Amino acid sequence: MRILVTGGAGFIGSHLCERLLGEGHDVICLDNFFTGSKDNIIHLMDSHRFELVRHDITEPILLEVDRVYNLACPASPVHYQYNPVKTIKTSVMGTINMLGLAKRVKARILQASTSEVYGDPQIHPQTESYWGNVNPIGIRSCYDEGKRVAETLMMDYHRQNGVDVRIIRIFNTYGPRMAENDGRVVSNFILQALRGQDITVYGDGSQTRSFCFVSDLVEGIIRMMECDNFIGPVNLGNPAETTILEFAEKIIRLTGSSSKVIFKPLPADDPKQRQPDITLSGTKLGWQPTVPVEDGLKKTIDYFAALV
Ligand code: NAD
Ligand code: UDP
Repeated sequence: MRILVTGGAGFIGSHLCERLLGEGHDVICLDNFFTGSKDNIIHLMDSHRFELVRHDITEPILLEVDRVYNLACPASPVHYQYNPVKTIKTSVMGTINMLGLAKRVKARILQASTSEVYGDPQIHPQTESYWGNVNPIGIRSCYDEGKRVAETLMMDYHRQNGVDVRIIRIFNTYGPRMAENDGRVVSNFILQALRGQDITVYGDGSQTRSFCFVSDLVEGIIRMMECDNFIGPVNLGNPAETTILEFAEKIIRLTGSSSKVIFKPLPADDPKQRQPDITLSGTKLGWQPTVPVEDGLKKTIDYFAALV
């Protein structure tokens, strides 16, 4: 197949491009390089089945493809809050443009949504049937509400125009090729530990997250795209839940660092708890994560150790 991956030069997108190329597909990687980098895909450029397009999805584009993975959108709070108007444009206008493309060429399109659609969740763990608890006017809204509209657009193009859609809700994912300046917790803590700097825990560290290794996620993404009788939304994540303070201590131990934990103010609207219920991905896709968190973290630490 000929497959378009928007945001293909980013962290998850680059792993997805690599995997799809490895399966023998033609891959078009489309990116505006806001948070992505050519370094993430340089090793794919020798393949004659790989094409790179510098483009911003908030502008329309004409391409002939069989599949669209719509991953383009900054994912780190630091990056998506840098230009919040652009962030929501990417999720709304960008998704409309990609849905228009999919409609025109009758391609199947998968939208990368997020656990952030659950906001600061009042049920735990989060199931797909939960409608969420999102602040519509807060500093995270450009991302959360943008992704919620993207899901709405997918469902409306499906119901109104018969577009073949898939929706995944990705929970916190980590691994090699997270950007050094990404600002999310995994790369921050590992880089701080490797550099002997203080580990910056926001708040008292009692908030929880559940971390999934990127190869597991990519497997789930592809299974969902190629699943013929289920459009989602489906949660993709690793239910292994940890408090952020425990996570800091784990990184210190795994890196053998002498860094100390320090506490910084908790950002506004920071969700207190997050853990995916992955019953649905198990029954519909036969998917569950296989990489234990410590193994994935060791691979990620090795990646960052080579950079510092
Ligand atoms: P990332 O920032 O590394 O990658 C995003 C990519 O999209 C970058 O290459 C960036 O340059 C590109 N991009 C941004 N805006 C664009 C635009 N307007 N036009 C074209 N390209 C644009 O982030 P990631 O972690 O790889 O996330 C990929 C997708 O997965 C995002 O849609 C994100 O919302 C979603 N997601 C990620 C996580 C996670 O934990 N990593 C969790 C939930 C959802
Ligand atoms: N966090 C932290 N220190 C950091 C970066 C993040 O304590 O240097 C916290 C953050 O407040 C949140 C959790 O770690 O509670 C996960 O943050 P991240 O930005 O990785 O993702 P998200 O909040 O979007 O899940």
